[in-house]
Amino acid sequence: MGSKFQENCVFCRIIEGLEKAEILYEDEHIISILDINPVNFGHALVIPKEHYDNFLSLPEELYLYLLKAVKIVAQAIMDSIEPKPGGFNLVSNNGFVAGQRIPHLHFHIIPRYSGDGLKFKPIIKKYAKGEIEKYASLIKQRISEPKTQII
Ligand SMILES: [Zn+2]
Repeated sequence: MGSKFQENCVFCRIIEGLEKAEILYEDEHIISILDINPVNFGHALVIPKEHYDNFLSLPEELYLYLLKAVKIVAQAIMDSIEPKPGGFNLVSNNGFVAGQRIPHLHFHIIPRYSGDGLKFKPIIKKYAKGEIEKYASLIKQRISEPKTQII
């Protein structure tokens, strides 16, 4: 199944021990490190050890490992760092247009504080009459096609 080590990928290099990182957690399939450009201190990344470009290429058998690692690390961040975060964001950017800068799937765990200045300010759009049904129909139709079924 998995993709091989990619020489030019910083996460692959960290996983292979070729670059230094602060490793928070590691198991057979997953590694978690501190982001060297933190939005808030303690900002962590959770990364499958094999190279997958984005969430859509992650094989199903790794979902549970990834989520388990996310929970372990998020809980530890919430319980250990000072000042104690009020919450956290769990984010995965998929594709350059979505802000993904390292094309090796990763989830960010970002501890949050009231007034920390991090803003995600979407410009909310409004569906024209009938449009929401159209979008729902397109997506549902694709989900119901056999090749997209994941269960
Ligand atoms: Zn990689």
